[in-house]
Amino acid sequence: MTPEQLEQYLGFYQDLGVKNVYRRAPVPLAAAEPPAQAVQVAQAVEPIVQAGQPPVPADQPLAKALQPPAPAVQPMSQSLEPKVRAVEPKVQTVEPMVRAAAEIIKLPSLAPPDDTLAKIREDIGDCQRCGLCKQRTNIVFGSGNENARLVFVGEGPGADEDAQGLPFVGRAGQLLTQMIENTAAKEGIPIRRPDVYICNVVKCRPPENRAPLPEEMEICGQFLFRQLMVLRPKAICAMGSTAAKALLATKEGVTRLRGNWHQWHGIPVIVTFHPSYLLRQYNQEAKRDAWEDLKKVLHFVYD
Ligand code: URA
Repeated sequence: MTPEQLEQYLGFYQDLGVKNVYRRAPVPLAAAEPPAQAVQVAQAVEPIVQAGQPPVPADQPLAKALQPPAPAVQPMSQSLEPKVRAVEPKVQTVEPMVRAAAEIIKLPSLAPPDDTLAKIREDIGDCQRCGLCKQRTNIVFGSGNENARLVFVGEGPGADEDAQGLPFVGRAGQLLTQMIENTAAKEGIPIRRPDVYICNVVKCRPPENRAPLPEEMEICGQFLFRQLMVLRPKAICAMGSTAAKALLATKEGVTRLRGNWHQWHGIPVIVTFHPSYLLRQYNQEAKRDAWEDLKKVLHFVYD
């Protein structure tokens, strides 16, 4: 990591209100290697309950294992002094932590007290924290009912979303709307799309609709973390592997994760296929599965 990158990294935490940082004792690179952590995390996200059963409450041991570990850089006090100076200039010792963080995605737990969606949006500002800002037209923060009992989390804006500044308004979004509204109507659940809240892991469109990079997810994940903490829905529906990775810190694919309940900070999470994946002709079976997932989460939240 160059001094400029370190400064950016620290500046990012400063933007979030973290005034002081400290440097951990040097971590041997071997200890920070991803495979061991990946195995640990994969074990931690093993299904907590089988399909159809109610999710386990947050205070049980496995739920605890799902809590993301403390962030690499932690707030020490509310003192305003000194900021960047506290860690200068031993860049090398920070590197393994940053590398490890980039490889296993977790949403760092940095939510200020009395947070609101408006404050989060204000803190995002005209964000330049990662490279995605270069090609975006609009930041796509999220939309829907701020008191929603159900939140859908996607990957990141596509071209239509980037143009309009709203999530899921393109083809995948139309399919998502249909899925929510048709399933709810068929199941006798009186909700429509505006009753839920929809947002993404990253708020700016990745070029060519590529998957967001680990560092982009790590940076933008701060804001998703805060959004979900403020919304505190009864359940979250993670659509696609990027959302699952961000919320559950797992490398497992959707096929392995779907069909069971997981948890994010005590909130039950259902993982399902991303609507873009369902738009492909050859994924008819996945479509049926996705409808089942949706039915399950809708009944859990609204029955
Ligand atoms: N795909 C996503 O993941 N999010 C959107 O907002 C649109 C398409």
